[in-house]
Amino acid sequence: MEITLKNKSPYKKFRLSALKTLLIIMGIFWLVAIVLWQATGANLYLFNFLYIGTSLGTGLATYSLLPKSKKHRGRKLSQLLIGIYMLSLLGLLSRQNMQIEGFSFYLLTGFFAGAVIHYLVAKVAGPRVFNRMWCSWACWTAMVLDYLPFPRNKSGRLPTRWGNLRYIHFALSLGLILVLWFAFGYRVRSTSMTELHWLVGGNALYYSIAIILAFRLKDNRAFCKYICPITAILKVISRFSLYKMAGDAEKYNDCGACEKTCPMDIRITDYIKNGQRVLSTECSLSYSCENVGLPKALKANWGFDCGTKELLNMRNGPVDKS
Ligand code: SF4
Ligand code: SF4
Repeated sequence: MEITLKNKSPYKKFRLSALKTLLIIMGIFWLVAIVLWQATGANLYLFNFLYIGTSLGTGLATYSLLPKSKKHRGRKLSQLLIGIYMLSLLGLLSRQNMQIEGFSFYLLTGFFAGAVIHYLVAKVAGPRVFNRMWCSWACWTAMVLDYLPFPRNKSGRLPTRWGNLRYIHFALSLGLILVLWFAFGYRVRSTSMTELHWLVGGNALYYSIAIILAFRLKDNRAFCKYICPITAILKVISRFSLYKMAGDAEKYNDCGACEKTCPMDIRITDYIKNGQRVLSTECSLSYSCENVGLPKALKANWGFDCGTKELLNMRNGPVDKS
């Protein structure tokens, strides 16, 4: 069902189905805000999750209202609203290390900082429900990467071993924390300048590597595909996500346009031919694929399933990876 807002305008239709999804997503964040506020009495949690839910909802509403060619602006709006807020207010002003190393330190120390809540909600519990929506709609690294000039590399991904670098990165990151903890007795007892230095240094390093890689490999999301350590968590949990992209077998015409626009090189067509939703744990819910090809041939929906194989377009040919 559609509501006409203005005749003969590309901005004219707001789908009630989109409103339903938007309200579910915003509602979950608002619920988390109220539950945490009630449990801890901390106003920051109330504000934080109300703000994030509303920003995401604003981005999704903008996405729904814009014409196809401009829809990505809704996603970028959400990225900016959330990414800048998290880096500036939680990171720089509250002096919390929002990097994965900060999360590990806070957990080990038993210091219940905002970074811990952030990781538990956005990176652990969130992907079980919203898939890797974080990666397209909220990540402060991707917020910058998505303005670079290579939305996707037409040749596909580098061989699988390059994708394993992110697990090595994750292991090194954890190893560093354990060495500092056990060998040097490093402890975090409060937010401090040291945490701020971690945050600034870590992000500067991530942004530098991500931008160099994007230009070298002509792929804005190269960092996400090969280096980002957070994917080690995201990929495990998003496998069981309730919300995933799905093809409508009656409308899907196999023209291949969706695959040509997918920034994560997913073989969308093969999932649909297999009668499955897009089960790849590489899907970042960018929604790029639903705006090409026949209208409504692809759409995100709710359901229960779990991916076993990654179907990806690789530079040396398609690969089915368990
Ligand atoms: S893979 Fe990592 S850097 Fe890329 S969008 Fe996701 S969290 Fe951000
Ligand atoms: S499958 Fe669709 S929603 Fe998922 S990353 Fe690719 S283009 Fe984006």
